[in-house]
Amino acid sequence: MRAPIIGVSGSVSADEKQQYILRAYFRAVLHAGGLPLLLPMDMDGAATARCLDRMDGLLLAGGSDIAPALFGEQPCSALGAVNPLRDRFEPPLIRMAYERDIPTLGICRGIQAMAVALGGALYQDLPSQCAGGGKLLVHAQAEPYDVPCHEAEIADGSLLYGCVRAARLRVNSMHHQAVKPPLPECLKVCASAPDGVIEGVEAPDRAFFLGVQWHPERMFNCDEASAALFGAHVAACIEYMGGKDR
Ligand code: MN
Repeated sequence: MRAPIIGVSGSVSADEKQQYILRAYFRAVLHAGGLPLLLPMDMDGAATARCLDRMDGLLLAGGSDIAPALFGEQPCSALGAVNPLRDRFEPPLIRMAYERDIPTLGICRGIQAMAVALGGALYQDLPSQCAGGGKLLVHAQAEPYDVPCHEAEIADGSLLYGCVRAARLRVNSMHHQAVKPPLPECLKVCASAPDGVIEGVEAPDRAFFLGVQWHPERMFNCDEASAALFGAHVAACIEYMGGKDR
């Protein structure tokens, strides 16, 4: 059996001359048995659709902030750098993956991009816009990034729970923005930090459409749950590949 091909949406430099992906994402997917390939952002909707015809899964990597125009807001003063090219490329890609039920794993910016593409919104600047019930945790930890920072409670019966087999995880946290409730109807929360910040969302009516706010790619070689997440995604991609080839 061939390895499932997993399209990876990565980062783009500020001058938009270079696309890149941190090797940790590639290494985590390879370790799980997938074949990760970086997707070029110079594809219009039709080219993206043709590209997805040849993919068995999708990985949405971390990166910069998402432009608030995508969820109908004006930029606040604490908004970080945004990438117009990536903000243009990803929403149609994500909606197509959702419609086709292509196994999709979103990480950090990825979970945010999933929520926004399907009609949700973000805290543009988590520290100033989210009270966290008066006990907002640190969500932008210092290095090293393979050390957990806060807990995440995993929703019983969720796809994520089935992947990691734990009601509570210790996760790292390197995010400036976060998914803001209410979620689009097709998504539900599957992980939350103790301060209420959404740390995981999934689409219950899809085989594998899951986003996490932490960075399992930085911990897959030292944390069972992180490796299990990539393993479950690759397994879903193999399942999807089998259905396609039949
Ligand atoms: Mn966090």
